[in-house]
Amino acid sequence: MDHDQPGPADTALRDQAAAADAEAAAIARAAAAATGAHRDTGPPGPVEQAFIGLMIGRARRREITICPHLSPAAPQPEYWQAWAPGEVRCASCAERAYRQMRATGASCDHCAAAVSGAWITERAIQMPPVPGQAPVTVCFRLCADCQAANGQSA
Ligand SMILES: [Zn+2]
Ligand SMILES: [Zn+2]
Repeated sequence: MDHDQPGPADTALRDQAAAADAEAAAIARAAAAATGAHRDTGPPGPVEQAFIGLMIGRARRREITICPHLSPAAPQPEYWQAWAPGEVRCASCAERAYRQMRATGASCDHCAAAVSGAWITERAIQMPPVPGQAPVTVCFRLCADCQAANGQSA
């Protein structure tokens, strides 16, 4: 038996760590690519750019974790939510975070103004897919003032 060879458990742990690093890097790349790629359908408004920048910044500082259900081996839609920005989530974890947010009352994700539910609009930007990386959907809620600032009327 060769004791210089890592055991299967060691190898699995190292592979997991490498995959997590690769995934964080892939998210940062996807977000970075999206800021340029959005030109096809019209550039994101200034408020949308701020959310994209926020996510890119967090990814670069490694302040985003990945929910345990996302795997590079089986890409599925991924969600980054401005109201809970520390994690990129699979659809069901995103749904859970959404319900938690809804239970705490409405506020604008951009200016933090508290607004009644009727005056807040939920928005999402679909990031373009990057090879080997599922598309990330950036989700946020805007008050009427911030929507106007972004150039959107509804
Ligand atoms: Zn999940
Ligand atoms: Zn606002």
